[in-house]
Amino acid sequence: MTRSLLIKPNMDDFYPKAVRGSGIYLFDDSGKQYLDGSSGAVTASLGHTVPEIIEAMHEQSKKLSFVYRSQFTSDPAEKLAEKLNQLVNAETDYWSFFVNSGSEATETALKIAIQYWQERGQDKKNKILSRWISYHGITIGALSMSGHVKRRERFVPLLENYPSISAPYCYRCPFNLEYPDCQLFCASELETAIQRVGVDHVAAFIAEPMIGAAGGVIVPPKGYYEQIKEICDRYDILFIADEVMTGIGRTGKMFGLDHWNVKADIIALGKGMSAGYSPIAAALANEKVMMSIVDGSKSIMSGHTYSANPQSAAVALAVIDYIEKNQLVDRVKESGTVLFQKLANLKNNYPIIGNIRGKGLMIGIEFVADLKKKIPFNKAKTLTKLIVETARNKGLLLYPASAGKDGIDGDAIIISPPFTITKEEIDLLVTLFEETLRDVQARLEENI
Ligand code: PMP
Repeated sequence: MTRSLLIKPNMDDFYPKAVRGSGIYLFDDSGKQYLDGSSGAVTASLGHTVPEIIEAMHEQSKKLSFVYRSQFTSDPAEKLAEKLNQLVNAETDYWSFFVNSGSEATETALKIAIQYWQERGQDKKNKILSRWISYHGITIGALSMSGHVKRRERFVPLLENYPSISAPYCYRCPFNLEYPDCQLFCASELETAIQRVGVDHVAAFIAEPMIGAAGGVIVPPKGYYEQIKEICDRYDILFIADEVMTGIGRTGKMFGLDHWNVKADIIALGKGMSAGYSPIAAALANEKVMMSIVDGSKSIMSGHTYSANPQSAAVALAVIDYIEKNQLVDRVKESGTVLFQKLANLKNNYPIIGNIRGKGLMIGIEFVADLKKKIPFNKAKTLTKLIVETARNKGLLLYPASAGKDGIDGDAIIISPPFTITKEEIDLLVTLFEETLRDVQARLEENI
């Protein structure tokens, strides 16, 4: 057999070779079936090989696949910008700048925020504040904003120290307080951070409405984002919502932030925007931000060769159209409630389940060695890896996540199947997950 020269995320690990997908299933080259319980990286929201999306892709490719963004605009790109503005459904218009990945979307959001203040003659307002236990992407600007210790550590000399405040992590409150008595101390920490850095230096605050990979789905309590937005407004700094994972229906609302009564100034989208059918992502900016730029330098100082690619834009339009026609956001809410309840029922029999949290079809499970004291497993046990691999052997795909006090010593997974999952398939997912827990728990008891 010839050696594969493909560089993989971890060269020692085994990666099956996927050859096809159908609905919520993937198949490898041995014919083995996998239930895509995580939509890949919380991306394949419609499942695989949906005929309507393939058709839209085919139709667009017969007309026009590529134009360069500074030479032409295109019908699909313009319509997609229109559609996203309609979905945001705010009192002001949101303009779209298209890129190719979530990292590029947050990196562009950062640049838009800095440029906005430059256009207003405030060049010193160029720092972004973010939270610890967060992930905004892998490129240097996006990683600078990410409070993800593991992903930062190799590149620390290149990074800005943007993570400044704690995550709204009620299961392990960083201040040992309890909601609602805490009076959202974690949100008011933003005010302290702004004062420390100096309001004249802060351009924006960025947050994931619900923290994904870095925290195993952390859902801030009621009132949190209202308070964050109030602080941003009072100090006149922009609020960026990183909706790369939460956006386009994943949490049972079109945007994650819709669970709170707040609109961000800039929104980063990716993943579910094209449900994995073609790479496309976006940074959306509201009228206030965009008019300063339009009246100043005229355009955003950013862009990529594949920005606003017509082929990818047509796919994203078809994905959103499919979600709307089939009322999938409502379905996510209903299926999410059913799935959450079934997972919560497992908690009684499997004490390694410390906490289950989430909204819609974005559910995180944090594992603990000691349920009462919430003590995480010894890192040497690499529990997350064991769970993900055991599940995969059984034909269930789960998404590994970080958790724990600093987002480094805990174990978590994300369960986020395609929106199209049926009731029977939810049952199968839960059965395969329970079998996984049974095996893992037995392995842990053997090792004690
Ligand atoms: N922001 C968030 C919230 C994400 O979850 C991710 C990806 N996990 C990114 C940004 C980066 O997106 P990408 O991997 O497409 O660059």
